Amino acid sequence: MNDDAPTSLTINQSAPPLDLQRIIDDIVDRIADETERGHVATYIPELAKADLNSFGMAVVPTAGPTVVAGDADVEFSIQSVSKVFTLAMALQEIGTRVWRRVGREASGNAFNSIVQLEHEHGLPRNPFINAGAIVIADILLGNRTPAEAIANILDFMRRATGDDTIAIDEAVAESERRTGDRNRALANFMKAEGNITHDVEDVLEVYFNQCAIAMSCRQLALAGRFLVQGNALQDGGAPIVSSRRVRRITALMMTCGHYDASGEFAFQVGIPGKSGVGGGILGIVPGRASIAAWSPGLSAKGNSLMATLAFREFARATGWSVFGPLSD
Ligand code: GLN
Repeated sequence: MNDDAPTSLTINQSAPPLDLQRIIDDIVDRIADETERGHVATYIPELAKADLNSFGMAVVPTAGPTVVAGDADVEFSIQSVSKVFTLAMALQEIGTRVWRRVGREASGNAFNSIVQLEHEHGLPRNPFINAGAIVIADILLGNRTPAEAIANILDFMRRATGDDTIAIDEAVAESERRTGDRNRALANFMKAEGNITHDVEDVLEVYFNQCAIAMSCRQLALAGRFLVQGNALQDGGAPIVSSRRVRRITALMMTCGHYDASGEFAFQVGIPGKSGVGGGILGIVPGRASIAAWSPGLSAKGNSLMATLAFREFARATGWSVFGPLSD
């Protein structure tokens, strides 16, 4: 071995600071030119009203001010992005016992797949597919009424964001209730297998309401701060979850956050993320930033096409993929 070889990796500390505002302004311009913008979710009729041309982005870095661009202050339905927060709550509530009822593996199947659940005897692959999130809702019900469990989730979101105005979009909640028969099928099957302990309608009431929380990109990026690194971004107050749990949650975001497109998101973007059928994506760059992007047009796999593109461009421009910067 060459004696002159460096004994440790060196990181270029002298790189100029990134102009995050310019980076996301450029992304907004780039996205305005895109004509193939995906399709809005129609299976929840209220979501079908969204405008395909909407696009917003917000970045809350550990160093420097929050930056926003486009429709960053327009509220949208966070849908499955809520599953990150309810998992954090369930882990706080019952700790590692969560993992007796839900797995930690990528599903490789659609977010609302029924077939896999039967194969695996009612034990969902991970907490981010619908079946897994319904089990988490069952855990959060505990000995509460659905209204109390929903109030707790809202309270958690408000504390994480530092914004008491966050609320549930009642029209979306009602739309989900009316059209949620597939989720009812998942919940009933898991109940038959002993993995749902409450009345199915009570559990789904919690689940539909958490999905119907309305937030803007700015609010969502603020809410994600506690996942960035050991609460580094929490403005005082008690830590929301321990850094050990933060690492676990972000690991699951990377492996399971985009359902059967999670591998592709890791490959193209390299940032732990969680998507929802409202078109939002929350991304966490450990130690650096919480990022939210939103555009309602979805890919066939139910992830926002434009928000995914925005994350890809953002990871390229910043070099903030957790797998290291691209050198080309
Ligand atoms: N509320 C949606 C559903 O249950 C959430 C799905 C999602 O965002 N992928 O189908």
